[in-house]
Amino acid sequence: DAKAEGRGVHRFYRDALLEGAQNRKRLEDDLRHALKSGQFYLTYQPVVSTADERIVGYEALLRWEHPERGSISPAEFVPVAEECGLIEAIGEWVLRTAVAEAATWPQHVRVAVNVSPIQFANPALPGIVTSAIAAAGLPADRLELEITEGVFLNEDASSDQMFRALKGIGVRLALDDFGTGYSSLGYLKKAPFDKIKIDQSFVRGAIEPGSRNAAIIKAIVSLADTLDMETTAEGVEQQDEIALIRELGCSHIQGFVYGRPERCAVVFEQLDRAGGWAEPIGFKTSR
Ligand code: C2E
Ligand code: MG
Ligand code: MG
Ligand code: MG
Repeated sequence: DAKAEGRGVHRFYRDALLEGAQNRKRLEDDLRHALKSGQFYLTYQPVVSTADERIVGYEALLRWEHPERGSISPAEFVPVAEECGLIEAIGEWVLRTAVAEAATWPQHVRVAVNVSPIQFANPALPGIVTSAIAAAGLPADRLELEITEGVFLNEDASSDQMFRALKGIGVRLALDDFGTGYSSLGYLKKAPFDKIKIDQSFVRGAIEPGSRNAAIIKAIVSLADTLDMETTAEGVEQQDEIALIRELGCSHIQGFVYGRPERCAVVFEQLDRAGGWAEPIGFKTSR
C-alpha cells in the first residue's frame, strides 16, 4: 500500500545519504594517509607563448594515485581536502615539490602552482613560499601562484595584506578560471595580478560562427591589456583554435593542443625536443 511504499522510499533515501556520508568519511581517511604514503605526485602542463609558440612555463597539477580506486581527480578530492583541513599540508607539499622540480628546468621556464583560498587566508603563506623557493634555489619570479575568484569571497584588509606580502616576495600572481566566479570587476582594480587565465568554458565553441564566447574573450583581453596583465586561454584543444586565440589577442595558450599534464620526466623530453618550442598536436579523444 501507499504507506509501505512511502516507508520504502524513505528507507531508500536514508540509505543513500548514509552511503554518501560513509564514502565521504572513507575519502577523508584515505586523504589523511595519502600524503605520508607518497600517493600524490605532480603533473605539468605546458603554457605556450601565442606569438612564437615557445613553452614559457608549466602549470603544476596535483594527482592522487589511490591504492584501490586508482587515479582520483583533484576536482573530486581538493574540495574534500579544503573542508577537512588537509589542504594546507597538501598545498605546502605541492608548492615545495613544484619549485624543487622547476629549479631543474631551463632558467626561462616558469612554474605555476594552484593556491586554495584557504591557503590564501592563512598568514603563514608568505613564509611558506619564501622558504620553499629558498630551499629550491628558484628565483621568485619563476614562480606564479594561481588564485581563483574564491579568495574575494571574504574580501577584507587581510587579503590586501596578503597580496602585498606575496608581491613583496617577487612571485607572480595569476587570476585562475576568470569569468566563472563572482565576476566583480572591482577586485581587478586593486589586486596586483600579472595574468588573467580565461576559463575554458569561454574557449569552448569560441570558433563557431557567431559565438558570443569569442566576443567575451576579446573583451577580457582588452580589459587585461588596459590593466597591463597577460592573458592565458585555458583548455585549447584544436589546432584551428590557435589562430583564433592569437587573433583575439591572448598572450598565452594552455591546453591539450600543446600537451596534457605529464610527469616531470616528460617535461625534460618536451623541452629537449624542438629546443623548447611547442608542437601543436591536436586533440584526439581516442588517445
Ligand atoms: P585549473 O587550475 O583551472 O587547471 C586546469 C584544468 O584544466 C586541469 O584539470 C587540466 O588538466 C585541464 N585542462 C587543461 N587543458 C585542457 C584541455 O585542453 N581540455 C580540457 N577538457 N581540460 C584541460 P585538472 O588537472 O583535473 O585539475 C582540475 C582543478 O583542480 C584545477 O583547475 C585546480 O582548480 C584544481 N587543482 C589541481 N591541482 C591543484 C593543486 O595543487 N592545488 C589546488 N588547490 N588545486 C588544484
Ligand atoms: Mg590553475
Ligand atoms: Mg583554470
Ligand atoms: Mg578550473
